[in-house]
Amino acid sequence: MDCVFCGIVAGRVPSTTVRDEDDVLAFRDIRPVAPTHVLIIPKRHIPSLADVGPDDWPVVFRALRVAKELAESLNLRAGYRIVANVGPEGGQTVGHLHWHLLAGRPMGWPPG
Ligand code: 5GP
Ligand code: ZN
Repeated sequence: MDCVFCGIVAGRVPSTTVRDEDDVLAFRDIRPVAPTHVLIIPKRHIPSLADVGPDDWPVVFRALRVAKELAESLNLRAGYRIVANVGPEGGQTVGHLHWHLLAGRPMGWPPG
């Protein structure tokens, strides 16, 4: 399967790891849109939040826990945003479930 995030998990694609847990990986986005821009993914391939099945909820929980703990360890005291883009209209460009952790500048609303 040709999935860039699976390539990162397997070590075939270089990335800057921020957190490496049993079934969750966090790494820096290659094209950051904020001073802090980390991607948090389940290591196993799940295409998007729309594809999360009954057995996947534990890893979803752990990914969100990693997001919250990273916000603490990166000292994002002023706030941050967690984003999951889902599907083409949701702006998803990589078909492997991920959350963006964005911080370091004020975030606008509504999102683009
Ligand atoms: P999406 O648009 O699917 O919500 O987010 C995909 C994100 O993955 C984008 O922010 C994009 O910059 C990032 N990305 C795409 N390819 C790579 C890569 O090879 N390495 C890293 N670190 N990030 C990537
Ligand atoms: Zn994948």
